Amino acid sequence: MSQPVVVAVAITGSVPRKSDNPALPVTVSEQIESTHAAYEAGATLAHIHVRNDDESPSSDPEKFAAVQAGLRTHCPGMIVQFSTGGRGRDPASRGLSLRHAPDMASLSTGSVNFPTIVYENHATLVQELAAQMKRVGTRPEIEIFDLSHLHGAKRLVEAGLMDERPHVQFVMGVQNAMPADAHLLDILLAELRRVLPRATWTAAGIGRHQAPVMDWALARGADAVRTGLEDNIRITKDRLAASNAELVGLAVEAVTRRGRAVASPAEARAALGLPA
Ligand code: ZN
Repeated sequence: MSQPVVVAVAITGSVPRKSDNPALPVTVSEQIESTHAAYEAGATLAHIHVRNDDESPSSDPEKFAAVQAGLRTHCPGMIVQFSTGGRGRDPASRGLSLRHAPDMASLSTGSVNFPTIVYENHATLVQELAAQMKRVGTRPEIEIFDLSHLHGAKRLVEAGLMDERPHVQFVMGVQNAMPADAHLLDILLAELRRVLPRATWTAAGIGRHQAPVMDWALARGADAVRTGLEDNIRITKDRLAASNAELVGLAVEAVTRRGRAVASPAEARAALGLPA
């Protein structure tokens, strides 16, 4: 029997706006409501960014805490993952939310070109964020935007800042970074197995690449799939996604088509090395 698949939902992100898709949850209460519907549809991991009133990215730790509290109440067992990502945020503030000890936090282990900016992750900042996560008992999800970032993760293990079993996400289809390409995923996976053989893994496809990347990941035995409005706001070229829950429904169908089971909250926690 293959392991059940964790369905992760990235509900908001830092780029899409309500004017792109009115279903995007922006306020704390919208985020809790949208995640709850996604949870009911089968999602067991919520990847969280928070926004200011003008929809710009926020680093306010109290907003993160309010979303976390709402999810703990309404989505029992769901894994709460805070973003420490940098788009539109001051580097010094990216780890502020870690004081609330989320189950997981995203961690980028190197720099890369993005559509309009350089996504800068200085080695010192990466180490500081990893150390903070270790201190509060938050498990990292390593964001891989380039092959060298796998080696950045390996260096954190060697420095004792992370255990040998992080959760790793390959991100494909970001303009100016890695293209969405099945052969490239094979190369990344081979390198992951060489440098971090005990890691769990998933892959995220951005925009129209969401469904194909998910399918490539499932075909290769991924521990998790990732969906949500952060990465993709459309069902087809001509139709916007109605909600995060609709995207989660499609992910559940993709998992089932591959003959695999969707993880329950308890199974998701066990799969990613989190306490029940
Ligand atoms: Zn994110």
